[in-house]
Amino acid sequence: MIARPRSEVDVADYIDRLYRAFAEAPRRDRDESTPHRCCECDEVAARLSRYAARDVPDDEMLRLGDSLPLLSPKAFRYYLPRFIEFCLTTPESSAEAVMNCNLAPSGDLDVGERNRFAQFSEAERRVVLEFVECRAASPDYESDRKFLDEVLGFWRGAS
Ligand SMILES: [Zn+2]
Repeated sequence: MIARPRSEVDVADYIDRLYRAFAEAPRRDRDESTPHRCCECDEVAARLSRYAARDVPDDEMLRLGDSLPLLSPKAFRYYLPRFIEFCLTTPESSAEAVMNCNLAPSGDLDVGERNRFAQFSEAERRVVLEFVECRAASPDYESDRKFLDEVLGFWRGAS
């Protein structure tokens, strides 16, 4: 577990391990980033695909923080470390606000080939589970407790 989530040292160490675990996740081309074609999805794909995951600037993350549901499974896997990092470093962001809802498959969205959670490697699953355990243990998310217990069950089962 991330021992003290608000401690900068532990967060920096975790973020480092997070990117190392995801080092093998393939980068996506622009057209593969979002499966749906509309103005919003096209803009998200254009903005995100300009950057390697770790290099997406903070001002873009502020704008794109709630775009996780729009990403293709491959783009979701590739960019998730940046969204997790942004939650840890920018707790007042929209990324943080929607993260709990994007940490387990959604019945409407994650169906068949569109399942954003089907492609994670063992190392990736382990490091995401650390993040999930930290959130499930935090009093900050008391109102999401029941939901986070399900998320925790998902990643524990998947790991
Ligand atoms: Zn769309």
